[in-house]
Parts: sequence; structure tokens; C-alpha cells
Amino acid sequence: MTARLLPWLCLAVAALFGLAIALRLRSHDVPLSLTLACALAVAHVVDRTAERVIGGRAWTTYRCPAPGCLFEVRVRGVDAGESRHWQETAANHPTH
Ligand SMILES: [Zn+2]
Repeated sequence: MTARLLPWLCLAVAALFGLAIALRLRSHDVPLSLTLACALAVAHVVDRTAERVIGGRAWTTYRCPAPGCLFEVRVRGVDAGESRHWQETAANHPTH
């Protein structure tokens, strides 16, 4: 499987989970706005998790070295120069 298909695979799996949640909530007469919010939230979490699990090796993560700072940059498919740029950006971002 090529790396270009992984995001689409993750999105498809996420959409299925979101649809499953939406169908279950609709059968309990949950309002449409709440159903939509829950389905999108579940789809987003599944997409992020699947992408990290399935395509975890394809991404490079640069974290801010400041203690307690949670800033991070995740890149994929970049050349060495661009990768270095994001590494420097993560190490020296304006909002610690
Ligand atoms: Zn920071």
C-alpha cells in the first residue's frame, strides 16, 4: 500500500465510525445537531488515531524543547531542507 493512500484509508474508516454513531443516535431520537456533532467528533478522533497507528512511521514529529510546552509540528513527505525548517520552527515558535 502506498503512503498516499493511507490518509484516504484513515478517512474512510473514520467516516464509517461516524456514520455508525450517527445511525445509533438517530434511532434514539437524538436531535440532528447533536447527532451531527457527536458523529463528527467520533470521526475526527478515529481519523487521528488511525493515521497515527497506521501511518505513524510516515510522519516525523518535531516537538518544542521547552519544558511543559506541548507545541509540536508533524510533517510528512518533505525534503531535507523543509524538514529542517519545521524542526527550527518547532524549537523557536513565538508562543511558549
Ligand atoms: Zn514551546
